[in-house]
Amino acid sequence: MTNYSATEVLFKDATESMVKNFGRSTLYEYFSDWVIYRNLEPMDKRLPGLKAAGYKMGLAGDRIPRKLEKDYAKAALWFGEEAQRLRGVKTPIKEIILIGDTLLNDGTAYHNMRSLSGLPGACFIGCEKTAQEPSVEIDDKDQVYSANRWSALGAWAQWALDSGLRLDANTLVVVDIDKTALGAKGRNDQVIDKARLEGLYRTMDAVLGEDFDYNSFERAYAEFNRTPYHLLTEDNQDYLAYICLVVNTGLIHFDEVVQEIKKKSLDNFDQFLRWVGSRMMIKHNGGEAFRQVHEAVVASVRSGDPTPFKRFRREEFISTVAHMGNMADDSSVADLLKNEITLTEEVCELSEWLKGRNCLQLCLSDKPDEASRPNAHASAHLAPLHKIATHRVGVDIRQMLDKLK
Ligand SMILES: [Mg+2]
Repeated sequence: MTNYSATEVLFKDATESMVKNFGRSTLYEYFSDWVIYRNLEPMDKRLPGLKAAGYKMGLAGDRIPRKLEKDYAKAALWFGEEAQRLRGVKTPIKEIILIGDTLLNDGTAYHNMRSLSGLPGACFIGCEKTAQEPSVEIDDKDQVYSANRWSALGAWAQWALDSGLRLDANTLVVVDIDKTALGAKGRNDQVIDKARLEGLYRTMDAVLGEDFDYNSFERAYAEFNRTPYHLLTEDNQDYLAYICLVVNTGLIHFDEVVQEIKKKSLDNFDQFLRWVGSRMMIKHNGGEAFRQVHEAVVASVRSGDPTPFKRFRREEFISTVAHMGNMADDSSVADLLKNEITLTEEVCELSEWLKGRNCLQLCLSDKPDEASRPNAHASAHLAPLHKIATHRVGVDIRQMLDKLK
């Protein structure tokens, strides 16, 4: 591991005054429909998805793999090869690039893609921390570059070229959406979380009506979101939301969950679902609306769907869209970053530059499809997230990119 100071890595300090509003755009303008949400069914219909081509990707069954799993990397590599063929480039993928915000998820997907393919590559992990001096940490072994400024993407591109990568027609670039291309981590990601919570509260209001106890919900959510509960929640937001809903109905009490976890007698979500089922035979809390949610969650979990709380995710989609492009064009940067999910200017500019070098770029998001695309229920009139216009906010790195060979 090497630590570099700001001067060594040649990126300018992204003080807040350098973060600017560059006007409205969409992810579609940069990536067209080369966008794949969690179900691994590409938005570009020429590219087959998990359901039709899972076996060709080398995956067993049609269970949707998560970003951390080897199967996810297999699918991503397969999408790269297919997309390369579809765009008419005769030579295969020879390099893997990944731009993301989470070392664990994105870094692991990148690591798996490289080890499965045996190809060289480079990874950028961004998280804005303006209270710190600009710095990067480089894992030389894996070629992972973690920076505390998104504007370091310019210096990262130079570093990638210096380390022998070509960044050309044979380069597959995978860009994460959530908190990377949209709602940059450390700069604007709190609006993504806010929109999700609003969706969650709307769901609880719809299911529980007047019986919804906001304070008790907040308490349960804060507690069960913690690491000691990860065996139960698997850090899955759908599981967490459902558990908090159950507690709010009073079918199972908050203290009971806490005790069972402490005693280690509750250690998986399936077990929790069965517990709820048996309580429902003796109590009728939550009424018909809760029963419907419960049955839908059970059915989805049984079929291996990692996003079982559909109703919540549909509400999340609606509130996410409501937080995109919602601010006036003359809003201050601070107001935009506080109230709107914005496009990350540095990612947009890098993407434009990589497009000029004829790299193959795919947007891969771990955000559930139900929270990213309209459905036949309440949101049929809305466009998917990558086609919703919102402001591009960030630091201009074009000059730095243009200087590179
Ligand atoms: Mg992300």
